[in-house]
Amino acid sequence: MRARLALIALFTCAANAQQIYDLVLKGGHVIDPKNKRNGRLDIAISGNKVAKISPRIPAAQARQLVDVGDYYVSPGLIDIHTHFDAQGAPLNLNPDHNALRNGVTTAVDAGSSGHKNFEEFKRQVIDRSATRILAFLNIVGAGMYGGKVEDDPGEMDAEAAARTVRKYPRIIVGIKTAHFQPPTWDAVDRAVKAAELSKTVVMVDFHPKPGRGYRELVLEHMRPGDIHTHFYGRLTPQLDDQKKVQAYMWEARRRGVLFDVGHGSGSLWFRIAVPAIQQGFVPDTLSTDIHKDSIMLPGATMTNVMSKFLAMGLTLDQVIERSTVNPAKAIRRPDLGSIEEGGVADLAVLELRKGQFAFLDSGHGKLTTDKALRCVLTVRDGEVVWDTEGLSLGDWKEAGPYSNFK
Ligand SMILES: [Zn+2]
Repeated sequence: MRARLALIALFTCAANAQQIYDLVLKGGHVIDPKNKRNGRLDIAISGNKVAKISPRIPAAQARQLVDVGDYYVSPGLIDIHTHFDAQGAPLNLNPDHNALRNGVTTAVDAGSSGHKNFEEFKRQVIDRSATRILAFLNIVGAGMYGGKVEDDPGEMDAEAAARTVRKYPRIIVGIKTAHFQPPTWDAVDRAVKAAELSKTVVMVDFHPKPGRGYRELVLEHMRPGDIHTHFYGRLTPQLDDQKKVQAYMWEARRRGVLFDVGHGSGSLWFRIAVPAIQQGFVPDTLSTDIHKDSIMLPGATMTNVMSKFLAMGLTLDQVIERSTVNPAKAIRRPDLGSIEEGGVADLAVLELRKGQFAFLDSGHGKLTTDKALRCVLTVRDGEVVWDTEGLSLGDWKEAGPYSNFK
């Protein structure tokens, strides 16, 4: 991991005193909404930190120079709804393969584990991944373990969940509740209780039932700062019969409830999202709910989700804002989601392709568009970890002897 991909040419020349930066991304169009950057800037990296952001950093100062003049550069993307490898969770995916190559440098696992198996999840997944993996802890002690366990309020111990969160304050960002079928408020209310005890937020996946309505959820049970995920899904009654956004959605937003996409297999329907966005009800955060099913037909990768919202009328700046600084705020990690001198070097280099594209939703619908985003290079913790165009490499003919391989 530590070996940079593209040192090959550099071994042929002696170290140069002028070369004060390990890596410089040159000439990219930087979009960093938190810092209101939207223009051409060079970014220099030393070790795992951003060392300098400037309109012009001399090429001679770079040990490795990467020309990103044809691309956009954003803070490493943050996907706050993911499902990565975990014991007993057959739908989960490998984090690095699916996050880093889509520009996602921080992925938040959304409740795959609970207080009974979080430490195993940490050992097996978090500690072994190059992607920064954070977690919402499932209010269910065993995590996403399937029907009976997830429907049993007896498995939802708010005190035990809060204790686990407090033990790992830099990793666990909140509490998740999901899949709860009984028509009661037990799961939501216990998740909120655990979040209160641990001073964190709740991410809610919610199916309305008679006696357990969505309006009450967003106006009475969730607190300001809590996150409803999957809100463009079929089961979220955010539009009335005339496709008008319900008044309580605006009221909930004024209260501070956050609305997260959580695309998944079933939760992004263009016939809900397009009219809602046309009326100005845009998501606070974009996220994938990526797993073995959602990554297939609806294509719930981060750059695809961003492209779908571009196609629905959001600007590139809005899409990047909702994939960087907004999710960082939602999980209360202000150290993430922006590009700062002295901050960790997590960056995504994105290509905005022009042409004919089509994207699918969860409801067997297709949306055609003339642009699409693709991640061409990802820097995580100062290292180039994804480079689909070989931007950081030289031509093979100049790659030197085999002994240069590190
Ligand atoms: Zn999910």
